Amino acid sequence: MITLALSKGRIFDETMPLLAAAGITVTEDPETSRKLILATNRPEVRVVLVRATDVPTYVQFGGADLGVAGLDVLLEHGSEWGGAGLYQPLDLRIAKCRMSVATRADFDYASAVRQGSRIRVATKYVSVARNHFADKGVHVDLIKLYGSMELAPLTGLADAIVDLVSTGSTLRANQLVEVEQIMPISSRLVVNPAALKLKREPIRALIDAFERALPQD
Ligand code: ATP
Ligand code: MG
Repeated sequence: MITLALSKGRIFDETMPLLAAAGITVTEDPETSRKLILATNRPEVRVVLVRATDVPTYVQFGGADLGVAGLDVLLEHGSEWGGAGLYQPLDLRIAKCRMSVATRADFDYASAVRQGSRIRVATKYVSVARNHFADKGVHVDLIKLYGSMELAPLTGLADAIVDLVSTGSTLRANQLVEVEQIMPISSRLVVNPAALKLKREPIRALIDAFERALPQD
């Protein structure tokens, strides 16, 4: 049996064409089914549905042989585990976005940076944010949040947020502006190294099929 860990939503949706290219179709719809283990047309392949942030944990500890996780999630997970137990053979170039700094329009980020002020930053991505501001030599107080980051500058909890941006429409809807791009983000294939040794042929075949089917841009 080969177990692939995916999160519902964009990662699940954007992984489906890659699986199809490998001859695999998931035979249940995760949005209507309550099942967390989904069968495929191939009896030896199954998909497990986990939270996006849990994908690296499942793969690292062998709950799944492989999985698809955003670079954002992998960087935060790696900061705890040093990347141990995860082989990352492929950038799938799906679920693309960027990690950015955003503030209220009336907060002058550039001059706060220039003046060496202490900036309060709320984010789910504490490790990425800490590294980014340390590299720039900017003093920050980091506040860990688990969601709805946009609210932080609007309520006075923080001056800025570090969050994922794709079209910018969520920021715009909350009257925030993107003031700095930190890094481009896409989703990666992650593989459990022990599984790769034990099930080399079928896992290799899957990786190769994914590679041939990658979006070109
Ligand atoms: P939840 O929404 O259940 O709290 P989550 O926010 O981690 O969990 P998703 O919103 O489905 O889950 O995001 C999963 C992954 O998709 C992220 O880790 C990131 O790599 C990518 N992603 C997140 N937001 C965007 C976006 N706006 N555009 C493109 N990709 C994104
Ligand atoms: Mg989300």
